[in-house]
Amino acid sequence: MSRKVRVRFAPSPTGPLHMGGVRTALYNYLFAKKHNGDFILRVEDTDQTRYVPGAEQYVKDALKWCGLNPDEGPDNPGTFGPYRQSERKEGYAKYAYDLIEKGEAYYAFDTSEELDAIRESAKQMKMPNFQYNSITRTSMKNSLTLSAEEVKAKIDAGEPYVIRLKAPRNEEMRMNDMIRGWVVVNTNNIDDKVLLKGDGMPTYHLANVVDDHLMEITHVIRGEEWLPSAPTHFLLYRAFGWEDTMPEFAHLPLILKPDGNGKLSKRDGDRLGFPVFPLEWVDPASRETSSGYREKGYFPEAFINMLAFLGWNPGDERELFSLEDLIETFSIERVGKAGAKFDADKTKWFQQQYLRMKSDEELAVLLMPKLKSAGISTDMKFVTNVCSLMKERAVFVEDMMADRFYFNAPTEYDEKTIKKKWKADTPSIIAGLRAVLVDITDFTEENIEIDFKQYLEDNEYGFGKVMPGFRLLVTGLGMGPSMSAICALLGKDEVLSRIDNGLGKLEALKNV
Ligand code: GLU
Repeated sequence: MSRKVRVRFAPSPTGPLHMGGVRTALYNYLFAKKHNGDFILRVEDTDQTRYVPGAEQYVKDALKWCGLNPDEGPDNPGTFGPYRQSERKEGYAKYAYDLIEKGEAYYAFDTSEELDAIRESAKQMKMPNFQYNSITRTSMKNSLTLSAEEVKAKIDAGEPYVIRLKAPRNEEMRMNDMIRGWVVVNTNNIDDKVLLKGDGMPTYHLANVVDDHLMEITHVIRGEEWLPSAPTHFLLYRAFGWEDTMPEFAHLPLILKPDGNGKLSKRDGDRLGFPVFPLEWVDPASRETSSGYREKGYFPEAFINMLAFLGWNPGDERELFSLEDLIETFSIERVGKAGAKFDADKTKWFQQQYLRMKSDEELAVLLMPKLKSAGISTDMKFVTNVCSLMKERAVFVEDMMADRFYFNAPTEYDEKTIKKKWKADTPSIIAGLRAVLVDITDFTEENIEIDFKQYLEDNEYGFGKVMPGFRLLVTGLGMGPSMSAICALLGKDEVLSRIDNGLGKLEALKNV
């Protein structure tokens, strides 16, 4: 019987979650949902020295914002808890001792000074990367080189030790990766990783593998930076005798800087002018703020859609995918091996598409509180109409209120347009247009459009002779959406009053 798919996202709370981390969570989530499985959040916080307050909450908030809700996690435990490694710390030691029993691990008594000295002398012998491995362990201070009595005496005397995995000597190990295919590693290249530290606490490798086993994880989907750890994990499954239930592995491609030169790092974002974090983060120690997609005005749908494409594609031309669509279409087979270049402009493009997909009413609901906090009071119907006009020109909701003329008569007028388009005869031409506007009883976009055109025709005016001055008076700007639409929205009285008040001001400005 095949097992229920269970995947986990296992961040260490050492800082805010980078967008690469969110992508890992997303691919795990999509894989789980696609296979009717469970998506689990496990907090890997055994390394207390790297613990950053607020980081765990940040991860949860970020997942929530993205709509990637875990089926099990610290806040909604299932039957495989605890979901925070620090809460099962003591439990891990037993597994390390079991491996010693089985001859798969050993005690190592080398002090850090001794190890430093060996590393130093190895360096001098032009071997810069000393490894504690199947060759070097034979000349180190451990339970493989010491007699059983010596080992017992040391332990009884309370001498500190670590427990190391005993990697086999010179064995070609074949490991399958769902993305990379078969990877062959010679065990001589695997060092004898510490499993249990001197303080009795597990290392990442031990805790991670034990938890994946106990939580019945079927697929480990994680970043490429964990690929070098995979051989150790394979060996651990074998050493424990858990091969039958060993998860399948998928190591996701790196996310690269926009120029393709190297991995996108936490520091790149604000340096290159885009966020690398889903949410804004204030470092608790330095108080330094890093920007976030949410605060910059991105919709989570756009952020998620963009992330999904960093390493995966559906194999056809489609680009816009809701989370539901992604669940349906996603497959690990279509995740590439090559690093995926981050593209800030493409991210904006996704945002723009999602903004356009929202109805005018939905956008108005989002814009209203922003207007309020800018001190602009207006009503929903009016704002809905503004959104309808501005939507095509906006990337973010806030862009739709960038033009203040919708809410207040202009106080300034675009200088360039005045210089180029405000001619000696403009006031009289506008006076003529004003008379036409006054006569429109039903002040709709269509009627304004028709009468405006008629006015041009009757007087044999070109469009450029009338429109720029008219637009300046009503909006203060040289360009923008259809003037008939803007006028219909503002209403006749407002348009006439803007013309009347503006004429004098513009004449004065022209004469400066
Ligand atoms: N705690 C590791 C991390 O911070 C988990 C790696 C894994 O998924 O195995 O990414």
